[in-house]
Amino acid sequence: MAGVTRDGGASARGRVPLIAGNWKMNLDHLQAIAFVQKLAWSLKDARHDFGAVEVAVFPPFTDLRSVQTLVSADKLPIAYGAQDVSAHAPGAYTGEIAASFLAKLECGYVIIGHSERRTLHGETDDEVAAKTVAAIGAGIVPLVCVGETAEDLERHGASAVPLAQLEAVLESIPKGAEFVVAYEPVWAIGSGQAATPDQAQQVAAALRGAIAQRLGDDAAGGTRILYGGSVKAENIAGFMRQPDIDGALVGGASLDVEGFSAIVRYQKHVGV
Ligand code: PEP
Repeated sequence: MAGVTRDGGASARGRVPLIAGNWKMNLDHLQAIAFVQKLAWSLKDARHDFGAVEVAVFPPFTDLRSVQTLVSADKLPIAYGAQDVSAHAPGAYTGEIAASFLAKLECGYVIIGHSERRTLHGETDDEVAAKTVAAIGAGIVPLVCVGETAEDLERHGASAVPLAQLEAVLESIPKGAEFVVAYEPVWAIGSGQAATPDQAQQVAAALRGAIAQRLGDDAAGGTRILYGGSVKAENIAGFMRQPDIDGALVGGASLDVEGFSAIVRYQKHVGV
């Protein structure tokens, strides 16, 4: 496979792989502190090279201040972000969190358009685009999730829906802005049934093609595309060997320190 190294393809092409843990509505702020401390120790013990594979956690909003304090006090090389953001500037939006508030907490990233938000909260492509613009405006890198349901897959194939979802966002992304895309087939999330690396690669390549068409080759070459959906230590290697997959968005398996740490250290088990 062209461009693929023993370490996986992403780093060979200058995109630093990103392993991101989406905690969803799990772990309160005290549990978050203990988790991030243990994760940092586990990776340090294993001599993890944070420059070679970036690590990020996405705790609930109420944990973010505690995580910020810990990361900053102990100078931990772990990135963090929120799981959602308001499209609006501060004002009369009860229950919402402005991008500028997340920036104050030094969030590097924010997940936008996760399938649970699209399904359970009826988030539309327009809202996902508006939230993406708000994040970029506040200097936060949006991690935009796209993916097809089982029904979409049967009706339209794997790429059509994720492509349409991404194109709706690309229209609003200013040239030069950094963003990350997570391809997460909805049927693979939390089901224990991950896509095959080949399936995921095909969709990731199509998504990269759409970025190239809209924002140019440099943007396409520099944008990280993650796979998400039942990723665990046992299957991460297959995804990371793919030329267009630059990391993973991990749900359930990100809640176990040792399991998540093993996913982060996938280079130890790629190509061996
Ligand atoms: C997710 O919710 O983003 C996800 C990928 O979950 P899981 O890893 O549990 O499938």
